[in-house]
Amino acid sequence: MEFEAVIGLEVHAQLLTETKIFCSCKNEFGAPPNTNVCPVCLGIPGSLPVLNKKAVEYAVKAALALNCKINTYSVFARKHYFYPDLPKAYQITQYELPFAENGWIEIEKPDGTKKKIRIKRIHMEEDAGKTVHGEGLDRSSYVDLNRAGTPLIEIVSEPDISTPEEARLYMQKLRDILVWIGVNDGNLEEGSLRCDANVSIRPKSSDKLGTRTEIKNVNSFRFIQKALEYEIERQIKVVKSGGEVVQETRLFDSQKGITKTMRTKEEAEDYRYFPEPDLPPLIIDDEWLESIKASLPELPDQVKERFIKDYGITSYDADILVRDRALSQFFEEAAKNYSGEAKKVANIIISDLLGALNEEKLEISESPVEPRHVAQLLELVDKEVISLRVAKEEIIPEMVKSGKEPKTIVEEKGLVQISDESALKEIIKKVLGNNEKAVKQYKEGNDKQKQKAVKFLIGQVMKETRGKANPKLLNQLIPQVLEEL
Ligand code: ADP
Ligand code: MG
Ligand code: ZN
Repeated sequence: MEFEAVIGLEVHAQLLTETKIFCSCKNEFGAPPNTNVCPVCLGIPGSLPVLNKKAVEYAVKAALALNCKINTYSVFARKHYFYPDLPKAYQITQYELPFAENGWIEIEKPDGTKKKIRIKRIHMEEDAGKTVHGEGLDRSSYVDLNRAGTPLIEIVSEPDISTPEEARLYMQKLRDILVWIGVNDGNLEEGSLRCDANVSIRPKSSDKLGTRTEIKNVNSFRFIQKALEYEIERQIKVVKSGGEVVQETRLFDSQKGITKTMRTKEEAEDYRYFPEPDLPPLIIDDEWLESIKASLPELPDQVKERFIKDYGITSYDADILVRDRALSQFFEEAAKNYSGEAKKVANIIISDLLGALNEEKLEISESPVEPRHVAQLLELVDKEVISLRVAKEEIIPEMVKSGKEPKTIVEEKGLVQISDESALKEIIKKVLGNNEKAVKQYKEGNDKQKQKAVKFLIGQVMKETRGKANPKLLNQLIPQVLEEL
């Protein structure tokens, strides 16, 4: 029998607010343990939560970007469990009435096919603290409550995902959108985005859902795919050998690449949910909703379509340019400043500028190069003041280092293209003198060999002039000089 997998993801995303969700402690990663804490996030009896408006704004922004319907009325609830990193012994979350439902995102597979993954619900909640285990001889465990009270949204997908690859693409798309709109920093290693993966299998012909397992806290894109691949194989083996998959929570061991039982259904906790008495229902009125809608930027997919349509660039290039919002803005501004084809702008950014920035360990948002300078550089090439090769190899790295404009660099370094015929002829003669073999090949060879010799000699002249010779003229002048010999 052939089996297929059914996957649904629950993703927790930390919101990039200045302060925590229910108190005014700083929301930051990496501070010394237990320095960003107060009675509210320490769960001291008698302290009261006050909802952070910015956290709601970010949550709504995310939900809108994920095509959700926003509920004007939603309710916070207490979810009870005991763990050292949860001082109140309950987490404030939303349960029956979340603030957003019924959304979707579209993923694009490597073969270009697209698929919509529905989002069932998004709710707001607070993060717990962190337990830190001692190393080596230190057998103690420590609790750091800096993270307690960090605002989270939990995004629950419908079980629309069919393969581990789709699960990874879904998670990546989610990250791209949340980072793009500025509500999450996208840092999986620091736990800014965490994923629990639910998975079951069923016979290919069936449309009933099988019993699922939930894999907790898979913290990289690669591991999401790996953990699911392993778990699907495991479930198929269980069923094929006559057994049954048991509903349980499993942990992924990234070192061994396997999942292991953490707790079974029988051991599942009863969270004793009930409405949070210390917080009023959350009301998101139309006026507020409209203003948040208005603040939402154009999203990556929309920008991609527009770039292809308005600037005539390829889907491949557009994909790269919308990976980062700052990069898409950089491209667009450079393209607007340039009189030639935007394709060339995309090309020089993708194949040269990004690499040069990378050499200096700079992000595009920190680029000393201004978009209009990229336009200016391409204009200089078009006017044949410099060669494209000099632009790419000499000027871009210098622009990245110094932030100077191309014109200045051309003057300072004397990089003006050599288009003076007699000067070029002198250089050609010198190069021919050093390359007798190629000269001979030209003189004695057939057409094809002649072409080959010319091509080689152009390369040699370019080397001699450090890329400054006008290539069009060389094409003309080299055969001329050779014929005159
Ligand atoms: P619960 O209330 O127990 O958390 P939900 O209905 O909220 O369950 O589902 C949690 C996640 O599990 C969702 O992402 C959902 O798509 C997914 N899911 C539910 N049933 C299955 C199943 N049989 N196989 C795979 N995933 C499932
Ligand atoms: Mg759930
Ligand atoms: Zn606090």
